[in-house]
Amino acid sequence: MKSRFAPSPTGYLHIGGARTALFVWAWAKKQHGKFVLRIEDTDLERSTQASVDAILQGMDWLGLDYDEGPFYQTDRFDRHKQVVQQLLDEKKAYYCECSKERLQILREDLTKQGKKAKYDGCCRDKGLNVGVVRFNNLEEGLVVFNDVIKGKISINNKELDDLIIARSDGTPTYNLTVVVDDHDMQIDCVIRGDDHINNTPKQINLYQALNWDLPEFAHLPMILGSDGTRLSKRHGAVSVMAYRDAGFLPEALLNYLARLGWSHGDQEIFSMDEVIKLFELKNINKAPASFNQEKLLWLNQETIKNSSVENLLNNLTWHLQNQAITVTDTPDIKTIVQHLQGRCKTLVGMASEVKMFYQDFDILDEKLAKKHFKDKAPLKHLLTKLKALSTWQANNIKQAIKEVCFELNISFSKVGQPFRLALSGNGNAGSIDIVAELIGKDKALSRLKMAIDFLKNSRY
Ligand code: GLU
Repeated sequence: MKSRFAPSPTGYLHIGGARTALFVWAWAKKQHGKFVLRIEDTDLERSTQASVDAILQGMDWLGLDYDEGPFYQTDRFDRHKQVVQQLLDEKKAYYCECSKERLQILREDLTKQGKKAKYDGCCRDKGLNVGVVRFNNLEEGLVVFNDVIKGKISINNKELDDLIIARSDGTPTYNLTVVVDDHDMQIDCVIRGDDHINNTPKQINLYQALNWDLPEFAHLPMILGSDGTRLSKRHGAVSVMAYRDAGFLPEALLNYLARLGWSHGDQEIFSMDEVIKLFELKNINKAPASFNQEKLLWLNQETIKNSSVENLLNNLTWHLQNQAITVTDTPDIKTIVQHLQGRCKTLVGMASEVKMFYQDFDILDEKLAKKHFKDKAPLKHLLTKLKALSTWQANNIKQAIKEVCFELNISFSKVGQPFRLALSGNGNAGSIDIVAELIGKDKALSRLKMAIDFLKNSRY
């Protein structure tokens, strides 16, 4: 069994495309079949190599591995032209040289009369041999198909145009190339967005004219933004790679996309193995799905929490480089990641928290300094106690903080907060005793001294 993802390279891989790719991939894996990637680059004006690269990069980052391809439709133009010629020879297609102006007037007239604006067949019997090539669509009868998701769909041939299958320069158009390629690549199930549902009856007529078996069709409902309109840039990032940049794990995004329109009971968290096992096209909702950034962020946090340190590190490396953070042997980055994975919503946040374990800083957050550095006594006292510690471990450090609180008769936060700021520079740190242990005694003490000096010289 085979299915395919067939993006047009006219932009990056977006959320909607990625969800289609995921469903096609899951369907193929579930059938122990093949997943084909086909780049539909027949629109020579709008297709770019940069978009091809961006799509491949997005697929790669998501881990949606394809078994065949990438195939490029432009490499198959000869085959497409051969099929166009076959249809011409069998009088199932004809040349048309109607001008744009004539077609425009025709369209306006028909619309005025309240009729369907379609080609009137003016050139059908002229026997021309130049111009665009039109498919000779049947005038009568119904095109009926059973969409796996939407159910039975029936269209009257009267509604369908004599569609253009080749431009006047001979290049074939989408509806022709898609039929030829799906047939030649032996695609069993065509899974795609429901923006193509109107093309399906035209394609079915082409299959029939060519005496080819029909694949199954499954049209995915669209994805809406929070305001109920079709998901677009207005709703925030729609490019898959923008989610990598914002610190999402690919498996969290995939998990989220899997739930966009598909469900298995109330379950929210799925591994990709589970998606493959449980995936059924018939369990996809007919109604559009809504994209919810907050839920995606929550899923990312959960996925980070439950991920292996190795996997987090694999994904974090890009962010560390991106933020120019250099990691050394001590402290062990694995221990740091383990410490941070319970508290970070994104890998961007994690990378910026990693920084304090390896890099000193010379500025402290001014607002927080104003708030927490009112009195130098707690920090000085703490410095003396910490210096004296013979083992640098979280529990001893915590004990030292407690002793300072007790001796100065102040609350834990009166020592903990300024200490946290002294160690992190921005107050962004988890359990302060653990953070101090991981930073190491020398660095922790020197940062504490720096904070005390800062206090001496400041007017707070
Ligand atoms: N190339 C089309 C698109 O990107 C998809 C065509 C198809 O799946 O049949 O919208």
